[in-house]
Amino acid sequence: MKIVDHKLEGAWRGHSPNSGGKLSAPSLLVMHYTVSGGTGPEGVTDYFLSPRAKASAHLIVGRNGKINQVVPFDVRAWHAGTSVWRGKPNCNDYSIGIEVDNWGRLARAEDGSFRSAADKVVPADRVTKLRHKHDSVDAYWEIYPEKQLAALVDATRAILDTYPSIREIVGHDDIAPIRKSDPGPAFPMSRFTGLVEGRAGGPVTRTVIASSLNARGGPGVEYDVLGTFAKGTKLAVLYDEPGLWAQVRGKLSNGNEVTAWAADQFMA
Ligand SMILES: [Zn+2]
Repeated sequence: MKIVDHKLEGAWRGHSPNSGGKLSAPSLLVMHYTVSGGTGPEGVTDYFLSPRAKASAHLIVGRNGKINQVVPFDVRAWHAGTSVWRGKPNCNDYSIGIEVDNWGRLARAEDGSFRSAADKVVPADRVTKLRHKHDSVDAYWEIYPEKQLAALVDATRAILDTYPSIREIVGHDDIAPIRKSDPGPAFPMSRFTGLVEGRAGGPVTRTVIASSLNARGGPGVEYDVLGTFAKGTKLAVLYDEPGLWAQVRGKLSNGNEVTAWAADQFMA
């Protein structure tokens, strides 16, 4: 797949009026599930094309792998709602949003069938039992078909190639954790975050130049010190605000591997 003029080649294209404002140098890709059936009137594409919806995303990926684009990638889509990531609010201002057709969380009815929020029966062989990272109990979730995931991998690769400013892929449940559960535990997020780490250029590695560098729980001195990185330690950089704080992964002096924040100025 290729993106030309902010449009994914081969995708069905429509125009959602629920969009606007320039999206330049997006830094984030946000994954969602639709809680819907698919194409046609019960699908989310038709919904996004209606001004009533007051919502949209850049892409919608069907269970059959078909991709629809209703907002070009250089225009803000309305997918995130009230949201914050790494202290920055309004994720629509700096992210691309993809909706993946999936019913999400399912209920088990008295007759043993699995039902969506819209009371649609989902076949048992399409259901998995998993625990959402924000929950304390297991629940039932619709499985994402491989055909759909393969198409989403291709689209994600095209987006990462075209927009090198994208540094991270997250779920709606990461940027709006109290309100949202999508894309949920059935979504193989590591397949997608792995694409960011493995893309051209690979992950940036930096070396500790201070005699000892504090590894903190967040980007600021107000966050707890989790341990220290010794001088010469190689750290994989996940996110960096030059001159400020970087999120890194590496080994503490005590040998534990952590993901933590460290002051950018003490790394070469
Ligand atoms: Zn969402």
